[in-house]
Amino acid sequence: MRWFEPMKKAVRYLLLLPVCLVLVICLRAMLLTSLQIPAPARRHQLPTADADAAVQRLASAVRIPTVSGESTHFEALHMLLRSSFPTVFAQLQVETVAEHSLLLHWPGSDPALDPILLMSHLDVVPVEPGTEADWTHPPFGGVVEQGYLWGRGAMDDKLGVLACLEAVGLLLAEGFEPRRGIWLAFGHDEERGGNEGARQIAAAFAARDIRFESVIDEGLPIAKPGMVPGLSGAVALVGIGEKGYLSLELTVEGAGGHSSCPPPETSIAILGRALAQLADHPMPARLDGAAAAMVDTLAPEMDFAERIAFANLWCFDGLVLGQLEAIPPANALVRTTAAATLIEGGVQDNVLPQNARAVVNFRILPGDTIERVIAHAENAIGDPRVRVQKLPGDNCDPPPLTSTAAPAYLRMVRTLRQSFPDAWVAPSLVTGATDSRHFVELSDSILRVLPVRVELSDAPRVHGTDERVAVESYRELIDFFAHWVANSCGAEEQVD
Ligand SMILES: [Zn+2]
Repeated sequence: MRWFEPMKKAVRYLLLLPVCLVLVICLRAMLLTSLQIPAPARRHQLPTADADAAVQRLASAVRIPTVSGESTHFEALHMLLRSSFPTVFAQLQVETVAEHSLLLHWPGSDPALDPILLMSHLDVVPVEPGTEADWTHPPFGGVVEQGYLWGRGAMDDKLGVLACLEAVGLLLAEGFEPRRGIWLAFGHDEERGGNEGARQIAAAFAARDIRFESVIDEGLPIAKPGMVPGLSGAVALVGIGEKGYLSLELTVEGAGGHSSCPPPETSIAILGRALAQLADHPMPARLDGAAAAMVDTLAPEMDFAERIAFANLWCFDGLVLGQLEAIPPANALVRTTAAATLIEGGVQDNVLPQNARAVVNFRILPGDTIERVIAHAENAIGDPRVRVQKLPGDNCDPPPLTSTAAPAYLRMVRTLRQSFPDAWVAPSLVTGATDSRHFVELSDSILRVLPVRVELSDAPRVHGTDERVAVESYRELIDFFAHWVANSCGAEEQVD
């Protein structure tokens, strides 16, 4: 039959289509090329004996319980720092801001260059009463054992303060002469929002008309091999942005009365339904901005199966997003999250509650805004009996992302590759809030890093029980800060 031949041809072509599609998908995955730069040579490495002495200095600082919000111990910590780093405090200009925050300045020889800023904080979170005995070593004991320094602040963030001072001390001893100026800013209330420390420091800089080429603050660690699915190596992450912050207060007013004759819904039931609606209607997930930059940078290093998915997001974006959403830390990278954190209402079991109140804490993905989140929440709740309003406090929109084309970012990649040659470097997003958000007006390049090697089981130690840092990691961190300052401010500085 004559019509049969063209039909056969068409069917053959149709059958070829899926084969072509698979070929394209595989080819795209195979053609991904690494975006990692070769690791530059290290300047030097801190000798072991010096690292041991440095850890002892950090241990002494951990023993001073500078709990955020309690003013008693900051003076002692200042004195300890001065006596531990006599040369640094003698050669740099030192100021105290807002009573307990510290500011140090090492002027550069070329006033035309904007200085760099290194930030850390002196305060620590308290140890939850009743959990002290759960610690392997006393939380403020500063014990060095089994290759670790144990104690509150060992990771967050006294090691940042002392590692910066160690690095500056090393460079001073070497006779290093910075072209670009260096500022060190150590706030004293980061764990309570930084409204006294970092905010006052930022105001002082603004009043003096000082802008920074770059600001680095506490942030993302180095994930040990195996921690990032699909990657067999270590990954150093650079926080090019952080999430915004919003707490919404939900209140419902009821008539009260005797619980033997209740209305169809009490104020508590209405509030409960509102919270359930919010949980059932999260803000949409999207893979863009910092998370997309991270995926693009790491995809070429991934195992083939993961590479297939990440190289073909045009085809697999739904699948990839679905997988990310299922893992809480990954979910936090791709959406504005909501967590109901406080609830209260009712006074007695046989009394109808007059008022019920809850607080939901949102962490806002760059691209979303406080206004958009409020509109989403009101819409999701869809009940005029529930009043939604901002809880006064630390609410802020997400700061703008630092460009991955910025000289400071590129220099950070080079510095991390130099200090940690075994780690791939990628941009990412900090899901918490740091003091650096007070500095968005003072620099276009804010980077959040704390290159200390961690594994998944380390996460609950920060702000939790058995906070600790490996002695070897602390040594690497000091080296990193020395490299960063030298690369940013040296005579042969790669001023990109
Ligand atoms: Zn911190």
